[in-house]
Amino acid sequence: MDWNSIENKWIKRWQEENLFHADPDDRKKYFVTVAYPYPNSPQHIGHGRTYTLADAHARYMRMKGYNVLFPMGFHYTGTPILGMSRRVAAGDAELLDTFHKIYKLSDDVISTFVEPVKIASYFHNEIKMGMKEMGYSIDWRREFTTVDRMYSRFISWQFRTLRKKGLIVQGSHPVGWCPRDQNPVSQHDTMGDVEPDFNEYTVIKFRSGDSILPAATLRPETLFGVTNMWVNPAVDYVQVQVDSEKWIVSKEAARKLEFLNHKLEILKTIKGKEIIGCDATNPINNSTVPVYPASFVEAESGTGIVMSVPAHAPYDYQALEDLKNDKKTQQEFGISVNIDPIIVIESDGYSGLPASYAIKQVGVSGQNDSKLEKATSDLYSHEFYKGKMMNNTGRFAGMAVAAAKNEVKQYVMKSGAADTMYELVNKPVRCRCGAECVVKLLSDQWFLDYGNKEWKRLAHECASKMDIVPQDIRQEFDYVIDWLRERACARKSGLGTKLPWDQEWTIESLSDSVIYMAYYIIAKYVNGKMISDEGITDAFFDHVLLGIDNSSKVANECKIPVSTVEQMRKEFSYFYPVDSRHSGRDLVPNHLTFFIFNHVAIFGRENWPQQIVVNGSVLMDGKKMSKSLGNIIPLRAAIKEHGADTIRLAMLVSAEILQDADFSFDTVRGIRSKLLNVFEMAEKCSRPQTVGSELEDRWLASRLQRAIAETGASMDRLRVREAIHNILYSLEQDLQWYLKRTAAKGRENTAGTLAEFLDVQVRMLAPFAPFTAEEVWERIGHKYSIMQQSWPAINEDKIDLVAEESEFLIFRLLADLQNIVKVTKITPSKIAIYISAGWKAQVYGAILAIILDEKTNFGEVMKQLIANPETSMAKTDPKMVQKMMDDILSTPLEARNRRLRLSEFNEIQAIQDAASLLSSEINKAQIVVYSEEDPSKYDPKSKSKSARPFKPAVYME
Ligand SMILES: [Zn+2]
Repeated sequence: MDWNSIENKWIKRWQEENLFHADPDDRKKYFVTVAYPYPNSPQHIGHGRTYTLADAHARYMRMKGYNVLFPMGFHYTGTPILGMSRRVAAGDAELLDTFHKIYKLSDDVISTFVEPVKIASYFHNEIKMGMKEMGYSIDWRREFTTVDRMYSRFISWQFRTLRKKGLIVQGSHPVGWCPRDQNPVSQHDTMGDVEPDFNEYTVIKFRSGDSILPAATLRPETLFGVTNMWVNPAVDYVQVQVDSEKWIVSKEAARKLEFLNHKLEILKTIKGKEIIGCDATNPINNSTVPVYPASFVEAESGTGIVMSVPAHAPYDYQALEDLKNDKKTQQEFGISVNIDPIIVIESDGYSGLPASYAIKQVGVSGQNDSKLEKATSDLYSHEFYKGKMMNNTGRFAGMAVAAAKNEVKQYVMKSGAADTMYELVNKPVRCRCGAECVVKLLSDQWFLDYGNKEWKRLAHECASKMDIVPQDIRQEFDYVIDWLRERACARKSGLGTKLPWDQEWTIESLSDSVIYMAYYIIAKYVNGKMISDEGITDAFFDHVLLGIDNSSKVANECKIPVSTVEQMRKEFSYFYPVDSRHSGRDLVPNHLTFFIFNHVAIFGRENWPQQIVVNGSVLMDGKKMSKSLGNIIPLRAAIKEHGADTIRLAMLVSAEILQDADFSFDTVRGIRSKLLNVFEMAEKCSRPQTVGSELEDRWLASRLQRAIAETGASMDRLRVREAIHNILYSLEQDLQWYLKRTAAKGRENTAGTLAEFLDVQVRMLAPFAPFTAEEVWERIGHKYSIMQQSWPAINEDKIDLVAEESEFLIFRLLADLQNIVKVTKITPSKIAIYISAGWKAQVYGAILAIILDEKTNFGEVMKQLIANPETSMAKTDPKMVQKMMDDILSTPLEARNRRLRLSEFNEIQAIQDAASLLSSEINKAQIVVYSEEDPSKYDPKSKSKSARPFKPAVYME
């Protein structure tokens, strides 16, 4: 099979017939979007999952009768492309190697990459070709890039609108920072796409002689419990002039302080052991505390100096215990340790010394035991939520810890004895340029004020009304909305739109990509040359996107025909809001949450997004894809070799939505053989025939209805793995059974039933494997694209309980017979099958009802049976009753319910119908079927009396 030529044929057809163009009409609309790509590399297999899922979703909704808009743009904004072009210019060997070996680019192409826009447009084109080859049903009339002139006007409008609402502020705020590029960094700028995450520490200044020993803490409220200071004797410290004070900090800490806007001058180096034995003064109560040695103190963490609160900090408690037991160290530094922890917080649930209690909970061996981390965080959150300040904390006594934390901090700050510092939690974070990132306190920077309470409230409201798929991820959104604070929204370099009121700044990539879904409406008119960016003012966007002011005024101001303005407004009102936004899970803490924030800030509730769909990433043969593992496969190359449909299916079938999907070429090959089966079927039913009415025909039709119901329900929750499984695997099994049954009967008239089956299967396959579906659809005689067909609807009339039960019975009977042959090793020439007597069926029905009523106790069941004259026969054979109960309990619930609904079922008829199959499967044996009650039955071993309903007895010879 030449998959590529089939693909090319349909790509051309779809394009010629404009099948993906969506314009307003009378149907209900559905607007699906997916995060637009960054064109700084071609797409590889790992990128494809999100887009393929969105495409399958779009195609499914089209078949459900919606007017679906699925557009695509390209995100040029930011520094990555700029950085890449600099690396090309510098002849970066690693990058050039990637271009040559993985992307197979020629030197001619690479040499143009010294110009950033050339990189973007080259990969833009590559990605677009790949998307077409994957069969994505995109309305390409709406394509744009984020450096287009009209897009810049749109982003300028977005920013002026946010600023008018007071949501953009200028000020000093901490940001992740690349010291080499002198630029803020966020997820898009870092290696491995990590968002720099940092904590705010309070730095308490302990005076010691003419210097200050600053200790960084997350728990200023424990200051009353400080018994000593910790310094690592093995670390090099420096005395630095910090503004007008002399601080002693680790060398590493001195560097961090620079970025926090302190004026810094290093005076001299001091060995850690020189500080040990000194005294320091606690600023909160002027008590004098000694400086002791501790190996857990890290030079990179905080200031390299730790205030010790052994009652409430497990590390401090453990270090103090270690030191008390270490006479040698005490001697070495000439110290004697006889201090007791000071408890300053009380809370329910922790008895005695809280730190000691927390340590016992996890079991710790010494101050360098990693389990101290857990003890620390356990105690921290316990005391934060449940703790109360004790009487020895002066004016803070009685206050809840959650409140005291900030009160104590403010109090000490006011006295000048405290400061603030920031520290990366997830360090090291590396910029794409290779430099290690730091936290910088940036002044006069422009920030989006995601800390604004009212804004957060609206974002929560939007998220709570929104459908989030899968539901498990909802909490994560709530968390991020709460956690976000001011965020730098502009950079000094990079591609993008200038900040409208301050041309030195360029709006960064996670800020110009939050409401662009609205721009897809406008892009169609720009690309169609119906409007140009000349003369477009904010009034235009205010009107088209927000409905402000009247169309003729706007038309006049921007020199556009009124009809065009009105048409655009109408089109926006038709397609907005976004019905579904697809993205990878890594974008939850940034893009997807910003998307919510910015929509609620700019648009009215009627235009807030309706759904977010989040999917996991893709592994290759169980491993993460990475350049170093050499397992990055460009998408276009994979399509050429394996075909688009198989790749689409392999991406979607291996995992439910939030899990990581494991892509493998074994799966691809397995899927290809399934698709070939579908093609083969098309051959079988090319000659039209009427649909058969035998038991197996009715059964297959009934199974098909169930598959339609189940697959539709799966798709409505985007449980695509389940849906594909139904379509390709479960239905395939049913089909094989049908083929076996009809072959045993020697039937030739199956094409009608098969055609009906294929019609449904192919339509359900169409969202996932569009090329196969189109081709097969055409081969079975259809003139119009399968995309214009509707998703199969259930025909309740075709649900046939008798046929379902018959085939179920036969299937199980066949398995039983095969098992007997295997166990007894006989080669039967004759098989007698006995169907149970009428009274047993009556008793069976009664037991079934009792069990479905959730009563499974034998005595109880027996009592009820005997009480009813119709089933009182049961008392003659209690063993039989027990066996029937066991039968029922081991039968799937679906079958139990079906049997309850079947008032009459003729087992003899069902088995006789399948005698040909049973015979052909078992040694061509003669099959005879009797009722247990038949006086003329052939029953030499008296097997018939053990027959039970749906469990015939068997004799073989
Ligand atoms: Zn950098």
